[in-house]
Amino acid sequence: MGKKEWLNNMRTITYERLDINDDEEEYEVVLDNFPESCPRCNTVQEPKFINAYKVNQSTIEAIFKCNKKVCGNLFLSKLTAVFGIYTLVNSYPKYPKQIEFNDEISQLSPLFVKIYNQANGAESLNLNHVAGMGYRKSLEFLIKDYLITHKKEDEDTIKKTFLSKCINNYLSDNIKQVAERATWLGNDETHYHRVWEDRDIEDLKKLINLSVYWISSEMETAKYIAEMDNRK
Ligand SMILES: [Zn+2]
Repeated sequence: MGKKEWLNNMRTITYERLDINDDEEEYEVVLDNFPESCPRCNTVQEPKFINAYKVNQSTIEAIFKCNKKVCGNLFLSKLTAVFGIYTLVNSYPKYPKQIEFNDEISQLSPLFVKIYNQANGAESLNLNHVAGMGYRKSLEFLIKDYLITHKKEDEDTIKKTFLSKCINNYLSDNIKQVAERATWLGNDETHYHRVWEDRDIEDLKKLINLSVYWISSEMETAKYIAEMDNRK
C-alpha cells in the first residue's frame, strides 16, 4: 500500500473514556483502517461505526454494525495504539465460515461434514489441539461411511475395525496413500508422543482434502459407469 492510499484509508472516530471515572467528554482518534469484514457472517464489507470506548491506556474497543441485510449484527473490534495511531487487532464474536463439500461427500457422510466444521470452528478459536483431534475423527467417519455406503462392505466389520486397517485392507491406491498419511498426522494430534514434528495441522487438512478428492472422483466415476451403458 502506498503512502497516499494508506492516508486515504485512515478514519477519524470519536470515543468516550472508561479508563477514568465520570468523564463525559468525547474524544477523537485516528484509526488506520476499518474492519474489512464482519466476523459473524464473514462477508467482506465496510461496516458502520457505532461507538467506541477507551478501556485502558492503549486500548480502544469499538462497536460496528454489519451492513449486510441477512446479518446486520453488531460486533466489537479491539484497537491498540502504535505511535498514536490505532490499529485493528481483532473483532468478536467470531463465527467460523462453514466449509462446504460437494454433494457426493455431503450425502455420503453428513457426520464427516459436521465434525470437520466443528474442528474448523475450534481451529478458528485457536484451539489447535482440540481441532487436530476433531480433524482426525472426521477422517474416520469419511472413510468408514465410504466403505459401508458406497463400497457395500459389511457394516459390523467396518465399525469394529481400526481405521488404519480399514485404509490398508479396503481402499484403492490413491485414497490409501493420502488417507494413510492423514492418519499418521491424526495420531500425532491424539497421542502423547509426536512422530511427525515437521508437519502440522495444515498438512493434516491437506491430506484429508486429498482423500475427499479421490473419494469424490471414484464415486463420480462409478456413477457414470453405472448410468451410461455401451451403445455400440
Ligand atoms: Zn455480518
